[in-house]
Amino acid sequence: MEINPVKGTHDIIADEANLYTMIEHTAMMVASEFGYQEIRTPIIEHTPLFLRSVGESSDIVNKEMYTFDDKGGRSVTLRPELTAGIMRSIVSNKLHANADLPLKYRYVGPCFRYERPQAGRYRQFNQFGVEAIGAPGIYQDAEVITMGQRILLSVGLEDVKVLINSLGDEESRNAYRQALREFFSKHIDKMCSDCKRRLEQNPLRILDCKVPEDKEIIKDAPKMIDYLSPAAKAYLMSVIAILKSVGIETEIDPTLVRGLDYYTGVVFEYHFEKKEGIDDVGALGAGGHYANLLQEVGGPSLEGVGVAFGIERLAYIIKSQMQQNGIHFGLDFYLMGMTDDIIQKNFVLADMLREGGFSGEMNYSTKSMGAMFKVAARKGAKFAIIVGEDEIARKEVAVKNLKTQEQTIVKLEDLENVLHSMIDKYYADMNAAPTEEE
Ligand code: AMP
Repeated sequence: MEINPVKGTHDIIADEANLYTMIEHTAMMVASEFGYQEIRTPIIEHTPLFLRSVGESSDIVNKEMYTFDDKGGRSVTLRPELTAGIMRSIVSNKLHANADLPLKYRYVGPCFRYERPQAGRYRQFNQFGVEAIGAPGIYQDAEVITMGQRILLSVGLEDVKVLINSLGDEESRNAYRQALREFFSKHIDKMCSDCKRRLEQNPLRILDCKVPEDKEIIKDAPKMIDYLSPAAKAYLMSVIAILKSVGIETEIDPTLVRGLDYYTGVVFEYHFEKKEGIDDVGALGAGGHYANLLQEVGGPSLEGVGVAFGIERLAYIIKSQMQQNGIHFGLDFYLMGMTDDIIQKNFVLADMLREGGFSGEMNYSTKSMGAMFKVAARKGAKFAIIVGEDEIARKEVAVKNLKTQEQTIVKLEDLENVLHSMIDKYYADMNAAPTEEE
């Protein structure tokens, strides 16, 4: 009997894995430029950690956790997100005790949520994120949002909208919850059973409901922005102004409340602008300010702010863009030699080119040119480098662009330089004429 992957999980193979590595590496680099240090916490945590942090009114805790008793009878949970584990780690290791605040951590790793799988939604997925804890304020919030935007730009995503809102202070939230309770009690009979529970537990959660009929009702619900205290409103406006000063435009979304209970104050999401042929996979990344989270899990009263990106969603958008622009992962060169003698010389040449930073392969046994071109195409090589007897005698090689079929004779001593500029031009041409040939 064939054993299939568990529903909602997926294997990440070859080019897709390259893409994940590129995204994770880029995100880690950008975060370290902002001074975030890496932290790795366990995938498995005691269940109460998530009940206290992500919150008992959240969909995650209510419906989506992979929770089970271990052989010692302790309830453990596969982490649905990483922030809670990082807070636990700060407390367990007393990281706040002797450190300069804020503590700043970056992370990457798998998360587990028992959700209904669909485009951009998996049961095992990967998040990259950061947390800054212990020096709250408008600049720290703005820094995290800026860093997120820089990551998106660095992985090649320019058409991104930043949505922002504020959940205000305790007083604003209580007034807003009361207003929501009054509004939804008039409509709750027509709403889904989850919303009925949410009305009791935390009416803010109703705003996250994805049921189309409920969404219609939610449209007319009171807006958080109208319940913000003057101080909370001024804080939000200051963060927006700081972001503007570094060229980041934001859009206030009064319905943005996020699905985790620990957020207070500023919350935000990054969305890819709709584009023909690219599915909407929801928020690429999201985050916000949390005032009480560390304390909730047994730590000191230090506020924090964080953001998390879904690597699957970033990979999907980048892959779609690459396909639309005719760009693919592949070797820079495929080196071809027709005789054993040339293959021997090519082995040295291939080694030299790889040392020069190019990726490539070569044939190790004699084959027809036709067969070698087929291999080169299958490997996604950008250029074939053809070495024949005559070329060797003249210390030259032929370099063929496998997309345009243009062939150039290049002096061996110039090969590295010429290949560099050819590859730059290859990408420039791709961007200039994206779709015609595809
Ligand atoms: P959250 O932890 O819910 O604030 O989500 C942060 C980011 O993680 C989202 O913006 C998504 O990019 C990603 N994400 C959340 N849930 C899933 C999922 N089930 N599958 C894939 N990505 C997810």
